Amino acid sequence: MRDEAGWFSGGQTNAAYNALDRHAHSPRRNQLALIAHAGDGQVHRLTYRELLDRVAVYLPSGLEAALTLLACARIGAIHAAIPAGLGGLALRERLLDTQARLLVAADRLYQSGRALPLAALVEAATEGLDLPVLWHSRGGERRPLELWELLERQRPDTPAEPVAAEHPLFILYTSGSTGKPKGVVHTHGGFMAGTTYHLRALYDLKDGETFWTTADLSWIVGHAYGLYAPLLEGLTTVLREDKLDYPDPGAFYETLEQHAVNVLLTSPTWLRSFRRHGPEWPARADLSSLRLVGSVGEYLAPEVWHWATEHLAWTVDNWWQTETGAPCLATPLCQPAKPGKVGFPLPGVRALILDAEGRVLPPGHKGRLALQPGFPSFMHTLWNNPAGYARAVQDGLYLTGDIAVADDEGYVALLGRGDDVIKAGEQRIGTAEIEGAMVSHPAVVEAAAIGLPDPERGEIIKVYVVPRTPDMDGEVQAVMAQKLVTHLRRRLGPLEVPVEVVFTPQLPRTKSGKIVRRVLRARETGADPGDLSTLEN
Ligand code: ATP
Ligand code: MG
Repeated sequence: MRDEAGWFSGGQTNAAYNALDRHAHSPRRNQLALIAHAGDGQVHRLTYRELLDRVAVYLPSGLEAALTLLACARIGAIHAAIPAGLGGLALRERLLDTQARLLVAADRLYQSGRALPLAALVEAATEGLDLPVLWHSRGGERRPLELWELLERQRPDTPAEPVAAEHPLFILYTSGSTGKPKGVVHTHGGFMAGTTYHLRALYDLKDGETFWTTADLSWIVGHAYGLYAPLLEGLTTVLREDKLDYPDPGAFYETLEQHAVNVLLTSPTWLRSFRRHGPEWPARADLSSLRLVGSVGEYLAPEVWHWATEHLAWTVDNWWQTETGAPCLATPLCQPAKPGKVGFPLPGVRALILDAEGRVLPPGHKGRLALQPGFPSFMHTLWNNPAGYARAVQDGLYLTGDIAVADDEGYVALLGRGDDVIKAGEQRIGTAEIEGAMVSHPAVVEAAAIGLPDPERGEIIKVYVVPRTPDMDGEVQAVMAQKLVTHLRRRLGPLEVPVEVVFTPQLPRTKSGKIVRRVLRARETGADPGDLSTLEN
């Protein structure tokens, strides 16, 4: 067994060449490649031909981020995207971990219409490092190294550098939901093959269509489906810097309408949020172009699936990770959906559910989800972390860290993270089981469940609930909490331990939108919450 995964070993290729040059010299040359909504209100539209003209230049964030990543790919440099707005220490840590030679940084970020200054943070993060910063200055200030100045001096016809198929394309850190983010390495050949296959086979994109991935470009979903796969396949991709619900939820629906988006790829977090805002928003919009919604990143509760399918378009839940680079489990369009169950291993993926000793479990038994590496988009390695890779890939199997169960027809349901499993007496309950049952109550927007040791009762389940009505008084809250406990027991059957419900206006999240249960646990037990560098709130 090799200690790294590979694809097209020995071949030569280049992802930027395939994303740009190939189309720019084809009948697609004048088709829109990319539509980027900057947070300052500017909308950039570039055709394949124009985009090629600019990729020899390094540029940041939004349009600039897309160009920078492609420009790196073009010359064979490995890009390491770090989401703008991440704290200075986290930035410095990643600069040190990647041993970056150049930092391309924006001096501000637009969030909810406000300009957040980043220059001081970047300067502090790079202090004492021998690391030039190429600035995307958005506030009119001039700095010694300016991206757009460089851009204007570039020759449009710089050829792409052929690289080995297994040459690293990028390092990208995981979301940090369960602990310190891992630097995942993907390569030109495998990443192209794996992501584009699913763009057609799972997300069902057709030539000439427009695809919108709401994920930030600096997370894996943004890398794979905001940038590379749609461009590799000659489609039009939409990018948006600001929040989807700024200044109000209408912004999301307007973007869908304005660009006649055909397929949307988003997250359960956003779908829950749009469900909370209500059906009057989609009812007001013209969504006639939208024919498919993909959901990835977290467990998609049946109620949320039904809402999205009814009010947006047919919704395909799909499971994957930064490490897998592209979808691994999903329900293809030719199969009936079972809301709450993600579906089947996709072509090329072999998935197993294992017990604690590594034995394969039959249908109906909860266990650790493992995959057989060897499908094209599987990570090449973990950057600077061979021990982490060896821990994850053992005896030819990759341990995903999630727990799952398959039914008799082969549909897999994701139950949550192995680290978050709740021990309730003899039972082992995944967080998704409790949270999904909670969200099926009409008073609940979203929920997070944790297990806690209890001095008197052994173990208790505590559920944090974001209620639809935020301002209930104490008495109403107590009644509602009791109702929700009853509802939960009715949905899940007998639970061997006490359940406590508490109300909260929001849940702790990563910047990529995932609920971070370890923060809730730490708050209860006083234990160390671990790495908080990617926390949003
Ligand atoms: P870290 O590995 O640093 O703790 P992370 O696992 O959240 O962070 P990502 O690679 O962004 O980092 O997310 C992958 C994880 O997201 C999966 O392991 C799984 O827990 C969750 N996930 C993704 N898609 C789905 C889905 N469709 N259903 C349930 N969970 C999902
Ligand atoms: Mg993970």
